[in-house]
Amino acid sequence: MTIVSLARCENYDKDELRRVIEKSLANIGFDKSRFNGARVAVKPNLLTVAADDSGIITHPEFFRAVVRMVKDNGGIPLLVESPAVHSLARVIKKTGYDAVVQKEAISVADPSEVQTLHFKGAHRFKHIDISKAYFDADIILCLPKFKTHGITYITGAVKLLFGAMPGMEKSKMHLRLPDHGDFAEFLLDLYGAMTFGFDPPKPVVHLMDAILALEGEGPGQGGRPRQLNAVIAGMDGIAVDWTAARLAGLDIALAPTIVGGFERGYGAGLPEEIRIVGELMENLQIPDFVPATGNSLFANAFRWPLNTRTFKNLFVERPVPDPGICTGCGQCIKICPAGAIGQPKKAKSVPEYDYGICIRCYCCLEICPEGALHKKPGRLQRLLEIVG
Ligand code: SF4
Ligand code: SF4
Repeated sequence: MTIVSLARCENYDKDELRRVIEKSLANIGFDKSRFNGARVAVKPNLLTVAADDSGIITHPEFFRAVVRMVKDNGGIPLLVESPAVHSLARVIKKTGYDAVVQKEAISVADPSEVQTLHFKGAHRFKHIDISKAYFDADIILCLPKFKTHGITYITGAVKLLFGAMPGMEKSKMHLRLPDHGDFAEFLLDLYGAMTFGFDPPKPVVHLMDAILALEGEGPGQGGRPRQLNAVIAGMDGIAVDWTAARLAGLDIALAPTIVGGFERGYGAGLPEEIRIVGELMENLQIPDFVPATGNSLFANAFRWPLNTRTFKNLFVERPVPDPGICTGCGQCIKICPAGAIGQPKKAKSVPEYDYGICIRCYCCLEICPEGALHKKPGRLQRLLEIVG
């Protein structure tokens, strides 16, 4: 039986957070004394520059409460993250993390130092480069944010670990794995490696910030913050994700990392094998949480196998910049793994998108700091939706 802790937490008040986080660890049977003398890699979702209350990044006060608890129990916390485009230093500086890192005197791991993690149990990717800091740590504390996601349906504990890979390597994986199912399988290989691949395996604790979640077209600026009022914890990240998705009333069958995770048997193999401790699920469930639209079964079935220029342009949404919002920052150009985005042709214009090359990974949507990119349906897409 897998134990998942569910706790009500309605805001980022520091005392309340501390109480809830300690209670969550107790619920899952994780003794705080294990922090004593331990090097603790703390991995938030710090994908990009975003406001604390955007629902996009793990709230800095959540991070603060965790690192304080680690320190108060004799541990040595280390911030480990590798944002997609910006340097980690810039993302820290431009978010509420700057104040926390300074005040709490937290060391930050160098994201350019990588080491290869080997995991024989992986289905396909048995050797993955990740931040070396995870190898040096005694305990890994993951702080996922619960969000919708246009490719993986949700992002939580499993998807968080994609950030263990160095910056632009992540974009390359999108290019190598344009099929959403393949990408989810890779994420599960990585999750399995982080959970079982170290020799000896390290304790990996997932403490999810689902207080202010993200609904709609997540995981970036296209989504909308939404109160879920929950902190979810466990040693089984797939069970943690399942609990969050159930709280939000989402369709588990559309979440490939949960469905595939159960099948792999990395933890619970069935929902019946998950025991929720703490708050009753029905006390926190909300009925109208809005999922991302980019991951229907229909779209998955047809998006990538028929990956021709004509098919894509007729049937698959393309990312289109809004000239009224785009500031020309160029982040989409930098992150595009396919090299499909060029500099604007005219001054004060938007970047040039080549939809013949674009693989529809939507990394650009994810990274755009202005929310200036929208998915525009292909010309015959509506027809297929009616047929489907
Ligand atoms: S243009 Fe956007 S969606 Fe297309 S390949 Fe580049 S990053 Fe991905
Ligand atoms: S579309 Fe977004 S990321 Fe690209 S240049 Fe404009 S504001 Fe920047």
